[in-house]
Amino acid sequence: MSGVLSGVANEEGGGSRRWDIAALIQWSTKYFTHKEISNGRLEAEWLLAHALQLQRVDLYVQHDRPLSPTELTTFRELVSRRAGGEPFQYIIGVAPFYGRDFRVTPEVLIPRPETETLIRVLQRPSEEANPPGTILDIGTGAGCLAITAALLHPRAQVLALDVSNAALAVAEENAHTMEAGNVSFQPLDILTDLPSGRYDAVLTNPPYVAADELPTLQREIREHEPEDALTDGADGLTFFRRLAEVGHSLLEQGGRLIMELGGAPQAGPVREIFEGREFAVSMHQDMQGEARVCEAR
Ligand code: GLN
Repeated sequence: MSGVLSGVANEEGGGSRRWDIAALIQWSTKYFTHKEISNGRLEAEWLLAHALQLQRVDLYVQHDRPLSPTELTTFRELVSRRAGGEPFQYIIGVAPFYGRDFRVTPEVLIPRPETETLIRVLQRPSEEANPPGTILDIGTGAGCLAITAALLHPRAQVLALDVSNAALAVAEENAHTMEAGNVSFQPLDILTDLPSGRYDAVLTNPPYVAADELPTLQREIREHEPEDALTDGADGLTFFRRLAEVGHSLLEQGGRLIMELGGAPQAGPVREIFEGREFAVSMHQDMQGEARVCEAR
C-alpha cells in the first residue's frame, strides 16, 4: 500500500485528522491520479457515494460530513480494489446500458456503450419490416441486449442464451428487477447446439477478440472480465462462421442477424463470411465512427 493510502488508514485509530467528504474526495482523486486512473475524480466520487449509500450530488451538499471509522474502512477497501486494477463497475456492481443500470458481477462482461449500436440497428428496420415478434440474444451475459430489446418491444417474445449458468443468473436477476416479463433464459452453447424456433431478430455480441490479441487488452479487462466472453481462443471469427452456417435456420422470413464485431479489421472478413452464405450484409458504425455492427439478412 502506498504512503498516500496508508495515510488515511493510519488516521483511523483515533489520529487527529478528521476525514470529511471533501477531504476524502481530494485525497482519493490524488491517489487515483498517481495510480494513472484517468477519470480519478469521478471514480473517487462514485466510490464514496457507493460506500456511504448516497447519490453523487449529496456529496456536495454534505461536503463537511465526517466519516465514521466503519465508513472509512469500507471506502478505503473500495479505493484499494480500484487501485489494484479491478474495474470500477464490478466494485459498485452496476453498469449502465441504454439508460438503465444493470447489475454486473465478474461472471459477466461489463456492458459497453458501443454495444448500444446493436439496439439502434434493431430499432431501425427496413421500411417493409414489422416490429419483431421474436428476438434471440446469443451470449446474453448481464442480459443487457435481451432485456433492453424486451422492454422496447413488450409484445415480443425474447429468448436469451448463454453458455454460463452464472451469467444467466445475473441476467435473470436483471430481468426481474427491470420487470421484463417477456424474456426467457436458456443455457445453451451456440457452437454445438441450436435453440428451437425461428426469430425475427437475432442479436449477439460474441467473443470476437482473437486469442493473440488478449495480451494487448487493458489490464482491467484482461485480468478481471470473463475470458470466454472476450475471446473464442482462436482468430476471433469462430462465432461468425457458426452464425453464418446456422443463421438461415434461426431466422424467420425477412429476419435479421445483428452482430457486434471488433472494428474495421474484422469488417472485411465478417462480410465475406456472411456473403459466402448468401446473406445480404450491411455494416453500421458506432458513435466513434468505428465499424461495429454487421447486419445480415
Ligand atoms: N451480451 C452481453 C453484452 O453485450 C455479453 C456479451 C459477451 O459476454 N460477449 O455485453
